[in-house]
Amino acid sequence: MTITTAEWERAVAALRGERLLIACHMDPDADTLGSALALAQAVGLAGRGTAEVVVGTVDGRPASLPRRLGALPGAEDVVDPARVAVPDTLVVVDCSGPDRLGSLAPLVDQAGQVVWIDHHRDGGARGDVLLVDPTAAATAELVAELVRRLGVPLEGSVATNLYAGLVTDTGRFGHSSTTPSAMRLGAELVAADVDVVGLTRLLFAEQRFSELTLLGAVLADARLDPRGLVWSVVDEEQLDAAGLAFGETDGLVDHLRTVSEADCALLLKRRRSGELKCSLRSINGVEVRSVAASFGGGGHDQAAGFTAHDDVEGVVERVAEAVAEAAGSRVTSTIRR
Ligand code: AMP
Ligand code: MN
Ligand code: MN
Repeated sequence: MTITTAEWERAVAALRGERLLIACHMDPDADTLGSALALAQAVGLAGRGTAEVVVGTVDGRPASLPRRLGALPGAEDVVDPARVAVPDTLVVVDCSGPDRLGSLAPLVDQAGQVVWIDHHRDGGARGDVLLVDPTAAATAELVAELVRRLGVPLEGSVATNLYAGLVTDTGRFGHSSTTPSAMRLGAELVAADVDVVGLTRLLFAEQRFSELTLLGAVLADARLDPRGLVWSVVDEEQLDAAGLAFGETDGLVDHLRTVSEADCALLLKRRRSGELKCSLRSINGVEVRSVAASFGGGGHDQAAGFTAHDDVEGVVERVAEAVAEAAGSRVTSTIRR
């Protein structure tokens, strides 16, 4: 952990009061929402007031939560972004930078104080208290430590929400983010009676028939570029028909990621406006964050994303070139070792 004891103590001191708002990134995933809900519940259990949870959107309209995330305990209390007042304390969770908050980004400058909790490397975290540690497997791991320091036991809804974030960001304890510390937290949460089977089914294993047929269509359209890129496209209309949100396509890109001839998987999600929201996943250890960064996006070494206004062919061409280059430098460094 790179966070000092003094910084943890400053975070604990900041978490009190009535005008406390916890903000999640746009296109929410289980780490941002689970972390926010767990922290809000812990603040309440610690007798420190009521914390509200809000999810960022581009236009300030309420996010329609993915069905799976809507089932997390407390998700029904998420507030409308158009109705939030400037808080005394703003807590930002799992955001690489203020732009990930969409219309809520101005609150970072307006709030009385800002606590920023995140695990992205080289992100644009800003605030009075920075709980940022890129070695954390999930923001949920940092929130678990904060909950302990609030004197609240890791159990009940708090434990369930933290487990949802942890199990998602570690790829069910299969990605390179799976550290001993992540495993230890997982064990602690399982010991606290988290419903592992139910949550796994909810988050990963269960899907509607419409999602199954969408997967079929995305896989049928998949292409393998000889430069080491496997890619496919999905339209907003197709996602809508399958009842999936833009932040809920991990299941699709994870299938592309199984292709052994490729170094990188790319899923291009095409909005009605023509804008492309792109998900990149590393296959053989190639670093994809800088590829996303070259498009103005970001993320983690092994999972990153960006938004593009180019056409599909243009994006694929640029990503394939970047992947070929990244794979080349990786091979070189392996040989040198
Ligand atoms: P996704 O493919 O949307 O699941 O995103 C994978 C990772 O990349 C997550 O850690 C996101 O926070 C990050 N990410 C996705 N889109 C962007 C973006 N436009 N800018 C910065 N980071 C992003
Ligand atoms: Mn996230
Ligand atoms: Mn995360």
